[in-house]
Amino acid sequence: MPVKEQLRTYLTKLLYDIAATDQQVVLLIILLVITVIVLDAISIFARKQRKKVGIEPTIPGNTSARATNALPPRLYVSNMQGLSGKPDAVISESGFLIPVERKPLAKKIRDRHVAQLLVYMRLIEEFEGKRPPYGYLILGPNCRRVKVLNSPEKQAWLQKMIDEMRAIYAGHATAVPTPHPHKCKKCGVRAACGFNIGKA
Ligand code: SF4
Repeated sequence: MPVKEQLRTYLTKLLYDIAATDQQVVLLIILLVITVIVLDAISIFARKQRKKVGIEPTIPGNTSARATNALPPRLYVSNMQGLSGKPDAVISESGFLIPVERKPLAKKIRDRHVAQLLVYMRLIEEFEGKRPPYGYLILGPNCRRVKVLNSPEKQAWLQKMIDEMRAIYAGHATAVPTPHPHKCKKCGVRAACGFNIGKA
């Protein structure tokens, strides 16, 4: 093959190689861009989920910020205690698992919110093996965070409530209604309730 022909073949092959390399580079860039977009979307979704349950993200390098990690939510069912519940989130904080309950419509803290959180603390103690020293209630659209201590007094208050409920369920006690115009107006059983304040 003449030198001129050899050179032409060599240059043609070189051009094909360069073109192929360019295609691979372009493909690689496209893949990288797609990966960045997907990771960004996952990060935004995770941030929204954390915001939904009122969990503040950890700030890297900020030692004043609490180190928090959310665990996947799970349903706890205790046959031993006769209790069950699924906290909106369970976070790891200072070596403890802490239940978090979100009440987006609540304007202020209610006894039933505290009782629910105390039940979660009992369940976490049984299933995770360590007593949570507190839990969090996240109230209202602004996600106001309220820390509820898991004190012996609060647990005794909860136990009294549970005992009363069990006595009523077993027929040993009678439920005492506490009607209120505002409450009765929205109550799902008002049509059948003789204590309904708003009943015509
Ligand atoms: S209608 Fe009856 S059950 Fe419902 S809130 Fe009023 S008193 Fe309670």
